[in-house]
Amino acid sequence: MQQGPPPAWPGQAVAEPGRKSWDGPKPISIVGSTGSIGTQTLDIVAENPDKFKVVALAAGSNVTLLADQIKTFKPQLVSVRNESLVAELKMALEDVEHKPEIIPGEEGIVEVARHPDAVTVVTGIVGCAGLKPTVAAIEAGKDIALANKETLIAGGPFVLPLAHKHNVKILPADSEHSAIFQKSDFLFRLDLVIQNDDFRNYFPFQCIQGLPEDALRRIILTASGGAFRDLPVEKLKDVKVADALKHPNWNMGKKITVDSATLFNKGLEVIEAHYLFGADYDNIEIVIHPQSIIHSMVETQDSSVLAQLGWPDMRLPILYTLSWPDRIYCSETTWPRLDLCKYGFVIFFYLT
Ligand code: NDP
Repeated sequence: MQQGPPPAWPGQAVAEPGRKSWDGPKPISIVGSTGSIGTQTLDIVAENPDKFKVVALAAGSNVTLLADQIKTFKPQLVSVRNESLVAELKMALEDVEHKPEIIPGEEGIVEVARHPDAVTVVTGIVGCAGLKPTVAAIEAGKDIALANKETLIAGGPFVLPLAHKHNVKILPADSEHSAIFQKSDFLFRLDLVIQNDDFRNYFPFQCIQGLPEDALRRIILTASGGAFRDLPVEKLKDVKVADALKHPNWNMGKKITVDSATLFNKGLEVIEAHYLFGADYDNIEIVIHPQSIIHSMVETQDSSVLAQLGWPDMRLPILYTLSWPDRIYCSETTWPRLDLCKYGFVIFFYLT
């Protein structure tokens, strides 16, 4: 599967024997708490107070929403983008009994990411601003719930060996990579079974149940096609930003929604998959799948294709980064079951 320079370390997450499965609420930090990923993570925490608790939050400039989050989740530490927002935040918290420590600027984001009590850090910040806090979290031994794809795109060859050195898990929250990871955490665990006698003792049957080390032939990333999927090319010159922001399936932040409309996001996801799964670029394919029900697939050497399905709802991959390697019970009221018959059939086509 490897050609050309390999990624320094494929982002394989392996549940070591004896790894703690959290009895009480697992403490988490969120970087980018006021954004799309951040607020959906907090929805999960609010619904599962017995499973997760928030110890630190980093926001940018949305002080009003951050103040609401502080009132609800009572973090010990928060950060805002710059010093000038601290007074505004303190005023918004004037009548609130719980007063967290506030550290502004880059230093604050880094402190949130490496908060001593956090076990997992959700990286919901947008752009390369996510790299520094993620590196700080890794150096502090935190598992990373990786939404900020720019961390790997800009720093993959540095970040992955660092995670390996600190024995930190990189758990992808991007729905496509979560779909592959849900298979690959099984596939790649086999590598360790083969190489490591300790693991052989704990997973005695993986070699026959699972796939051999070189079983993976291809990664197939699905793409909705974004806001302009059905627009004739000649009409693209008339589109406005507001049109690009109308994603047909996913409700996301502005940058990724525009990147989806231009398909640039899918290019970024190919790079992300290359680093996470150690796949050569020639073995990562993209298919347009307008329904966004199949979140991605892997093909094995015998042409079998394994897929992960679900509603286009980011809470699911985010939840899995927080609960991994466990699966937690979700109420059907807020997490409706996937009704396959509603679709009847699923559509795929190549971009031409
Ligand atoms: P949003 O724009 O919705 O949120 C970004 C968050 O980061 C906000 O909390 C914002 O604060 C904060 N922020 C931005 N810049 C800074 C900065 N310089 N310093 C401190 N805080 C900052 O983005 P998304 O949630 O959509 O995306 C976040 C990341 O997750 C991106 O890398 C994206 O590619 C990835 N991702 C997102 C998905 C989604 O469904 N949204 C799906 C898959 C991946 P504030 O608003 O307070 O200014």
